[in-house]
Amino acid sequence: MPTDFTIVGGGIGGLVTARRLAQAGRSVMLLEASDRLGGTVAGHEVAGIELDAGAESFATRAGTVAALAQELGLGPDIVQPAEPGAWLQPATGHAVPLPAAGLLGIPGTPLAADVIKVIGMPAAMRAELDAVIPYLGTGAATTLGALVRRRMGRAVLEKLVAPVVYGVHSVHPDDIPLDRAAPGLRAALGMQGSLAAAVRSLRAAAPAGSAIAGIRGGMHRLAEELEADLTTRAVDVQLGRRVTAIDGLPGTVIVAAPGVLASANGRKVVLATLVVESGELDTSPRGTGVLVAAGAEGIRARALTHATAKWEWLRERAAGRHVLRLSYDSEPENLEQAAREDAERLLDVSLPAAAVQGFARVEWTRPTSQVTPPDGVVVVGETAAGSGLAAIVAHANAQADLLLSE
Ligand SMILES: Cc1cc2nc3c(=O)[nH]c(=O)nc-3n(C[C@H](O)[C@H](O)[C@H](O)COP(=O)(O)OP(=O)(O)OC[C@H]3O[C@@H](n4cnc5c(N)ncnc54)[C@H](O)[C@@H]3O)c2cc1C
Repeated sequence: MPTDFTIVGGGIGGLVTARRLAQAGRSVMLLEASDRLGGTVAGHEVAGIELDAGAESFATRAGTVAALAQELGLGPDIVQPAEPGAWLQPATGHAVPLPAAGLLGIPGTPLAADVIKVIGMPAAMRAELDAVIPYLGTGAATTLGALVRRRMGRAVLEKLVAPVVYGVHSVHPDDIPLDRAAPGLRAALGMQGSLAAAVRSLRAAAPAGSAIAGIRGGMHRLAEELEADLTTRAVDVQLGRRVTAIDGLPGTVIVAAPGVLASANGRKVVLATLVVESGELDTSPRGTGVLVAAGAEGIRARALTHATAKWEWLRERAAGRHVLRLSYDSEPENLEQAAREDAERLLDVSLPAAAVQGFARVEWTRPTSQVTPPDGVVVVGETAAGSGLAAIVAHANAQADLLLSE
């Protein structure tokens, strides 16, 4: 059977596209450079516990990932994170709970006590001016950072929004288009006339429950189930096939790997995972984890997830131990020691070296730029859809449907 489509890259973007095309009866060849499928959705074992080595949750927005998980038989294993929420480590002082009632750190009520605690009263009053500044529209290319700075001021941007956006997208809000960072916010702003009111309206309209969910056993199960599903369909999966030129590949070419079209514009992200014994952590002292503001004194990590506080299934599997994930965009010397010291400071607990039962370092490269594909070539995955499984799955489905309709 001739190949209808060749997909380059077997991360979530490539796998979802391959599945959708094969479901419609098309023949697909999928070329993956490494010896496994899933890309940044991967698992690893640390101190005998099976953990996620990359993505560990998905945005529930629009239900796209949940629908895919259901189709793959993972529906009963979709789980909500624990309630307490995340904390924020400001540039100076101690960590504080991330203000409730916000969106990506943008406060719905700038004069709320939990907002004032992070940015101070003068900055909160500046942010409140958002309610009276006339809304004259946003240019199509506006970044989230430009919008927040204009309407609520620099302190809200740098102290609240930047750490949250960095934790989700690994970029500063000045470097992410508004519609990609916060789909629907521009429209809500147009209707409501102020940013705070837009945030409140989006929150009120959101379905009950958390904005994110996970999968019992880890997100890497999604990649495993996608791989198993492809074996039942007309997909010729070839591992160890690093594509260097797309000319000559059979059928319509779909690029699902960063770096194939653009010069590999990537940024390194290092994830340090610690499995520790610590009674002090049993009470989840910083909720599900801590987002770190840029310039936080003496802390090198950009974010810490207390994974066993966040996911009940993991708490059960860890049998009294704790799993901490710390991400770094600039890797310190002696990562294990740095991660342990950062965890001590961010969580305000003592973690001697002897408390560490397992440590793992994983390095990922994240695309820094979008690509414009040559005529006839389709791009899916993070370089086209933006970061995050919800955006990538929705975009891959839409691109596959478009190809099928042509
Ligand atoms: C540490 C970390 C944590 C994250 N946490 C979350 C989270 O909790 N929730 C969330 O929604 N998102 C999260 N993300 C982001 C999310 O994981 C990614 O946006 C998504 O997995 C990217 O999928 P992709 O298919 O676009 O690319 P990738 O996963 O990068 O897959 C690309 C694939 O292409 C292959 N490839 C590369 N070059 C070639 C070539 N020349 N020829 C053939 N194959 C090639 C690669 O080997 C890889 O398998 C996280 C990212 C990181 C790094």
